[in-house]
Amino acid sequence: TGMAEPGDEDAVDLARRHLIQPWPFAGSVGHEARALIGEGDGIYITDSSGQRLIDGPAGMWCINIGHRREELAKVMYDQAMALSYNTPWYTMNAPSAQLARRIADHAPGDLSHVFLTTGGSSAVETALRFMQFYNNVRGRPEKKLILSRGGAYHGSTYLSASLNGRPRDRDWMDGADELVVKLSSPDPFRRPKGMSLAAFTDGLIDEFRDTVARVGAERIGAFVGEPVQASGGVIVPPDGYLKRIREICRDNDILYISDEVVTAFGRLGHVFASGDVFGIDPDMITFAKGVTSGYFPLGGVIISQRLLEQLRRSNHPDAMFGHGLTYTSHPIGCAVALKNLDILEDSVLAHAREVAPYFQAQLKTLEELPLVGEVRGLGLMGCVECVADRESKDPLQLDKNVGKRIDAHCHELGLLVRPLINMCVMSPPLIISREQIDDMVAILREGI
Ligand code: PLP
Repeated sequence: TGMAEPGDEDAVDLARRHLIQPWPFAGSVGHEARALIGEGDGIYITDSSGQRLIDGPAGMWCINIGHRREELAKVMYDQAMALSYNTPWYTMNAPSAQLARRIADHAPGDLSHVFLTTGGSSAVETALRFMQFYNNVRGRPEKKLILSRGGAYHGSTYLSASLNGRPRDRDWMDGADELVVKLSSPDPFRRPKGMSLAAFTDGLIDEFRDTVARVGAERIGAFVGEPVQASGGVIVPPDGYLKRIREICRDNDILYISDEVVTAFGRLGHVFASGDVFGIDPDMITFAKGVTSGYFPLGGVIISQRLLEQLRRSNHPDAMFGHGLTYTSHPIGCAVALKNLDILEDSVLAHAREVAPYFQAQLKTLEELPLVGEVRGLGLMGCVECVADRESKDPLQLDKNVGKRIDAHCHELGLLVRPLINMCVMSPPLIISREQIDDMVAILREGI
């Protein structure tokens, strides 16, 4: 049909005719109309009808310091005028080296080196490919299986997507199933009726230990887990659970990969949550999203000094980690990330820590509503889960996707929600004020 000429047709119509958007259904792929957003400012976005909305999901958990930050626009411009790109194959740039140093300074344990990618999926993919390389070089080629959990979301590239634990992500998709071993989601809300939290946690740890014993530690290369399962519905694990899993991994020479694509850069009030919130020191941490507050696609994986030393001292110093992306260490992305980190360190992290209890408490008031089974969260991540019945906790399914219906109501009232079937996930920009939290919760209450 040739190229569409932008002109009379509006963007929604053009998109319907030519754009494939993420997560489409077969029956509407390439024909979808979604809300058209024209502007952003602070915690707000404005749609094409002129309706101003609180950006409840902060884009996709990423607009951490808020929209329309002139400092970030300026740093992008300045870096593009100085150096817009250089090949990371044969050359390097200063912003990426500076960023690596600052990230390593914030990282827990002996995490010392950073490989920069284009986003979260490529970060998880890099961590997994590094685990494979590491075990090949160590002469452990059979140690490659990956432990992952129900409710997990780790990305949309082939191997990262193979780890995803939400059924709808995999129902119609293939994956490297032969490489993945699945465990339960640490979801306290769905624990058997009458079971104590301590017994539930012990059960999860037993499952982990039994799985390692059954499959064989000599065949398991890594465990990959989000500290708080984000897209699974903000599943906050029970106390001590992550630490205990970390210990089992250490005892069995299984690399612990903490997927902090959502939780890093302030969502839980710290640059990294693994150490500062959960007291664990993973072998690798993956990050993306908040590292640039969504102003530029960037992600990465931080790797432990210990692993790099083992590689350097191995019998195969000439083995090559055959992995690199054209946009690894992109100078504009790294310059944006450095400025974003300045702003986070200067005020936004402290604000996020200060306002988080208020955010959680206000959101929690929605448990009064008869449709709401549970409100849960941590930091500036929250989830309102609607149930058919509070006893059975069966997910509410009015027209399959209650979240979308709530989102539609809220949209009219001035709030964008992240609908997840029967759940509404809220993760606003970290700069949100108490008054704006009040507005957000009032609209959500009315929407529900
Ligand atoms: N890991 C986690 C925990 C995520 O939530 C996401 C995306 O939402 C990803 C990985 C994938 O990141 P990206 O969409 O930037 O590829």
